[in-house]
Parts: sequence; C-alpha cells; structure tokens
Amino acid sequence: EAIACLHNVSKIYPNGCRGLHSVNLQIRKGDFLFITGPSGAGKSTLLKLLYGAEMPTEGQVEIEGNLFHRLRGRALAHLRRRIGVVFQDYQLIPTKTVEENVAVVLHAQGACRTEIQRRVGPTLRMVGLAPKAKCFPDQLSGGEQQRVSIARAVVHTPPLLLADEPTGNLDAHNAWSVLQILKRLHDLGVTVIVTCHNEQLVEAFARRVVRIEAGILRELPVLT
Ligand code: ADP
Ligand code: ADP
Repeated sequence: EAIACLHNVSKIYPNGCRGLHSVNLQIRKGDFLFITGPSGAGKSTLLKLLYGAEMPTEGQVEIEGNLFHRLRGRALAHLRRRIGVVFQDYQLIPTKTVEENVAVVLHAQGACRTEIQRRVGPTLRMVGLAPKAKCFPDQLSGGEQQRVSIARAVVHTPPLLLADEPTGNLDAHNAWSVLQILKRLHDLGVTVIVTCHNEQLVEAFARRVVRIEAGILRELPVLT
C-alpha cells in the first residue's frame, strides 16, 4: 500500500532552474528509503514536494491517497501533521530549551499540558536526550541538536518522516547514531525517507535506495 506517490513530477523553479524531471516514485507504507545523488541533483526538491513546501510545475504528489494540490485549509493542515520533517541545520529555536523545542509542535496543535508532558519525556528518551531536557540548543553538540530535531519531528507520531540530509553536518559517529534512531522509528512502524549524499553511509545501511542525477530519478537494486 502506497503512503506517498509522485506521478510524473517535474519542478522548474521561477528562475528557470530545473529541480526535477518527470519523476515517478512510489513509497510504500513501512518503507525505509534513501534518496542519494550529488549536490544540486534535486533530492531536497523531492522532499519539499512531498511535504508541500514546493508545488510541482507538472504532475501530481499524492500522500495517503490525497492529491496535495487539491487540499486547502483544514484538510491541508491535517495532512501536514501526518508528516514529520528533519532538516540538515536542525532549525531549533535558540531561546527555548530542548523540551520546549519538542513541545512546540504539540502546543501548535492545541494539546493540553498533561498530554504534552506525557509525550515529550518518552520522545526525548527515545533519542537519548532525557538528561538534556532543560538545556538550550547552544549547550548541545551538533549530533545532540539533530536528535532534538528528530524528537520534535516525531513527537506527534506522524506515520511519515522525511529527513533532508540529517547527517550532513555531523561526523561519522554522530551520523551513524542519527541513522540508528531513524531505524528505531522505522521499527516502530514509521515510514522513513532520508536524503543523503554520502554514498558510503547509504551503502553501509543497506536499504531501498533511489538515486537522482540532474533531476532524473532511478531506482538502484536493493542492497542486502
Ligand atoms: P539537492 O538537494 O540534491 O542538493 P536541490 O533539490 O536543492 O538539490 O536542487 C536541485 C536544483 O534546483 C539545483 O539546480 C538548485 O540550484 C535548484 N534549486 C533548488 N531550490 C531552488 C530555489 N528555491 N530556487 C531556484 N532554484 C532552486
Ligand atoms: P557534533 O558532531 O555532535 O557537533 P563534535 O563536532 O564535537 O560533535 O565532534 C565530536 C568528536 O568527533 C570530536 O572529538 C571531534 O573532534 C570529532 N570529529 C568531528 N568531526 C569529525 C570527522 N569528520 N571525522 C572524525 N572525527 C570528527
């Protein structure tokens, strides 16, 4: 069963830059998919189309059976909540503590205090950061900040998690532990899509891999 599909999707940016060219991709519920390829190939564009930060120039993006471009208002907000996103540069709020950063999403969704407390603690434990709950982002290493951003992305239990170069700013050790956390989430039933230009890391991890070059996508044989 597909959780996300791109049907003949092309993206040309207003300045004429081509992001993607006629991409067809089906992501099944329970997949762990790597998107690899050189810098500027279109990996980030593909993820932005999946979480609706960009609209395709041609073709259609479908999430859980809904065509993204048809949705407005509440239906669109509801669909967005079904997707967690992790960025290369963490995007934490510097004036909020770790636990407050993670709680932001739940606040925005109108969760009450007890509900927030019930969810934030276990999520921080899952990424190994419960002891740092009261710290501010600038008191954490890059690897720890990325784990906070993963906690924030999944605290509201979205079925689909997108991570855009989550290991891009990390050394090998931290990169590996971030991938281990994504794997744990996958084991818990989350569908995970990760862009990663580090092909060695992708190979070592042995999952379904698609490669984009100059906006064109091709599927690689499943590594075992
Ligand atoms: P990757 O994530 O693989 O590095 P991107 O998806 O960021 O690649 O970029 C694909 C192509 O689209 C590149 O040529 C890039 O310069 C261009 N691009 C990306 N974002 C924009 C934008 N907002 N405006 C114009 N061109 C863009
Ligand atoms: P973080 O990546 O979480 O910010 P640091 O940058 O402090 O953590 O790195 C943790 C340790 O790994 C440090 O001792 C640092 O010298 C070492 N390190 C950082 N980058 C690399 C790298 N690319 N390869 C090997 N070791 C590295």
